[in-house]
Amino acid sequence: MSNFDETFDFVIVGSGGGSMCCALTLRNGGKSVVVLEKTPLLGGTTARSGGVMWIPDNRFMKRDGVPDSQDQAHTYMDAVIGDHNDTPGATRVRRQTYVSEGTRMVDFLVDQGIKLNRVSYWPDYNDEAPGGSEKGRTVIAELFNVNELGAWKSKLRPNFIPMMSTLDEMLKLRFLKQSWEAKRIAVRFGLRTIFAKLTGKHYVTAGAALQGRMLQANLKAGTDFRTETAVKELIVENGRVTGVVAEVGGQLKRFGARLGVLVNAGGFAHNQAMRDQYQPGTSAKWTNAAEGDTGEMIREMQRNGAAIAQMEEMVGNQMSIPPGMENEAVKPVVQGMTAAPHAILVDQSGVRYMNEAGSYMTYCQGILARNKTVPAIPSHAILDSQYIKKYGLITSPFPSARKPQEWYDKGFLKKADTIEELAGQLGMDPATLRATVDRFNGFVAKNHDDDFNRGDRAYDRWLGDRFHPKNASLGSISEGPFYSVPVVPGDVGTYGGVVTDEKARVLREDGSVIEGLYATGVSTASVMGRAYAGAGASVGPSYVWGYVTAKHVLASA
Ligand SMILES: Cc1cc2nc3c(=O)[nH]c(=O)nc-3n(C[C@H](O)[C@H](O)[C@H](O)COP(=O)(O)OP(=O)(O)OC[C@H]3O[C@@H](n4cnc5c(N)ncnc54)[C@H](O)[C@@H]3O)c2cc1C
Repeated sequence: MSNFDETFDFVIVGSGGGSMCCALTLRNGGKSVVVLEKTPLLGGTTARSGGVMWIPDNRFMKRDGVPDSQDQAHTYMDAVIGDHNDTPGATRVRRQTYVSEGTRMVDFLVDQGIKLNRVSYWPDYNDEAPGGSEKGRTVIAELFNVNELGAWKSKLRPNFIPMMSTLDEMLKLRFLKQSWEAKRIAVRFGLRTIFAKLTGKHYVTAGAALQGRMLQANLKAGTDFRTETAVKELIVENGRVTGVVAEVGGQLKRFGARLGVLVNAGGFAHNQAMRDQYQPGTSAKWTNAAEGDTGEMIREMQRNGAAIAQMEEMVGNQMSIPPGMENEAVKPVVQGMTAAPHAILVDQSGVRYMNEAGSYMTYCQGILARNKTVPAIPSHAILDSQYIKKYGLITSPFPSARKPQEWYDKGFLKKADTIEELAGQLGMDPATLRATVDRFNGFVAKNHDDDFNRGDRAYDRWLGDRFHPKNASLGSISEGPFYSVPVVPGDVGTYGGVVTDEKARVLREDGSVIEGLYATGVSTASVMGRAYAGAGASVGPSYVWGYVTAKHVLASA
């Protein structure tokens, strides 16, 4: 064997979701583990994220009497993901392993003291499909007092929600004006913040709570974490991956791995050259993935023979980026904007082209597909005054007629007394936009969107305004002045990468296994194929395949 500077049973590249889960499982099995992270912060995009995991048939659903089963989950995944020759990440055997191991993984984490729960109501993104769950299969970590990490606190990547509120609460707070439940949540949130200040606690939420809890459990279990350690190469001896070369403080260091290496190094959201090659029309300027998401480990695995697939896919997240926010690390996503009443999305010719209340992934797939035939990047959200009076816009959750003057001055927010005048400002044919709006208003009057069935699903209505009469997602665009903002196909990460089997082992083009090499998360071709089953369909798989890796390593050792 080569000379190594340090040797462990197992080496993990990147500190994302699967990394934390794999390391904890391996430490539980008595193996030595090091996690090598390129940036100064631990937790990856996962820590920044909502931190929710889509895990069918989980213990919290059973506890709360929410119906589900392994079979029901398979039926749903078969319906929304399906069997396709060009999605080798989503083979039937991988889908089945995902479901069975996901259930076990949640039990394992709870047994390890990780405080998890379910989100009370977050419909699957195709809840209308066979096997779909209206209440949802989404698991989340409870708020975490990050002060418990002591000196490691400053090493945890912060979350996109700076408040001490759960994601579930945040989702309900948007109805503060209409809902007593939301008002109670606001009071609880206020009291919690005061209590935390008085008692010296600092609660973090969502992905930071999940990754923070996992970091704490791993530190207790003896996992070794190294930050600012960028892996450059895999070491391969006699066809087996036996370690990695990493750059530490300007020096190259060789880390030996007796039982194998897991790559959990994210995707290529910040690599414009890879985006141009695989996802033309998308931009590294429109991603909310953490800065370490630069794709070099996918390339390094490829260099060592790994097959890649599903590289065209990203977890789309529609964005409307006001002037001055172009360089923010987390740019404004507008998931609910055109799912709410009194709003539609049109292409640059003024035509509606999709159900605007679909999941963020299908929404951005829709924009990119439309753009192949009609200019649609950006597309334009068309809103009326009812919308402006009832709902917040982009950066503010609260309604207000006053918007930053710069938005108007820079032509980002357009305002006109008539639809025709608005069309003129947008360079569209006024008659076309008028016809689009009239047709949509006709659907609102009959309470059914005959073109795209918007508002038919529980998911659409959940994303809309549940206090709106008749249909939570359908309301006329009829009261001037009228407004528009541009919408681009942003993302929270890419969704293709190396092909792995049901043990999370990396495969070559011919289907053979690269011994000693495992991969998880968005470094891999997703088990979800080209679909997004429900909230947590990225963090969930990262965790589950990390767990599967550890079990395979322990069983083989
Ligand atoms: C605001 C926001 C909200 C989101 N909400 C959710 C959600 O609730 N649920 C969900 O499923 N998805 C969500 N997503 C998407 C999801 O967070 C990501 O797709 C997912 O976290 C990716 O996880 P991962 O484990 O693959 O990688 P990551 O968590 O990104 O971890 C990869 C790590 O590897 C490191 N790395 C990269 N290259 C190297 C190298 N050469 N050497 C060493 N280290 C390296 C990176 O710096 C990074 O820390 C959200 C994303 C954002 C931005």
